[in-house]
Amino acid sequence: MNPFKVRLCFHGDLHVFLGSRVASDAVFERRLTEKTSIKDVIESCGVPHPEVDLILVDKQPVGFNQTLANEAKVEVFPVQSRDTIHTDKRLQTTDISRFVADGHLGRLTRNLRLLGFDVAYDQTADDRQLLEVMVRENRALLTRDRRLLMHAIVQHGYCPRSQKANEQTIEVVRRFDLSRLIAPFTRCMRCNASLQQTAKAEIIDKLEPLTKIYYDQFRRCPGCNQIYWSGSHFLKLQKRIEEIRSRALGKA
Ligand SMILES: [Zn+2]
Repeated sequence: MNPFKVRLCFHGDLHVFLGSRVASDAVFERRLTEKTSIKDVIESCGVPHPEVDLILVDKQPVGFNQTLANEAKVEVFPVQSRDTIHTDKRLQTTDISRFVADGHLGRLTRNLRLLGFDVAYDQTADDRQLLEVMVRENRALLTRDRRLLMHAIVQHGYCPRSQKANEQTIEVVRRFDLSRLIAPFTRCMRCNASLQQTAKAEIIDKLEPLTKIYYDQFRRCPGCNQIYWSGSHFLKLQKRIEEIRSRALGKA
């Protein structure tokens, strides 16, 4: 087979995977010597497949298994472009709202749980364990390790761009279109269990004297027994929730 050249153009913020010197709408050239799947060519440039939402080969939408055997012009689009072109040929779903996060994303995990989302998290989990939980429980993988996202069994996943937890949370809410599913204070931030309403009388012996006097509504975590009520900490969390919600919707 004669060697052939493939030109790839990466749209939107996919350039973050291509190296710091590459700007938006970056063009790459790859010289291939054998039939190669489009997925492998894209990942060889550093872009994990769960980040790719639309591929055009010579202007035609294709799937990840499409093979390249001749010169071609390839355009690669991120999920953020989903409402623009070829909306019916998209490769990623937003229809998933359960996650597994890697050990470096503890603060993102707590934020997502605060918003009511089911996030499996074990700080000590290794790559194999993360992938197992992802498959077994049909969760999307959240990790900044792009090699891990490139693993063939990853169907749904996202690499948070920011290193800051609040920004990462906004990114995830946007990426998976979660705004309408936000249900604050319904899930334990520590262990992920769903919180239950509980009568004050049942937990009164566990409360501090002032909490006993000033508060009447309580929720208890059936997983770790943590008790939640709307004290001063609650107001701070509420502020954080409102900021995330309005920024995810693009209001601020
Ligand atoms: Zn708990």
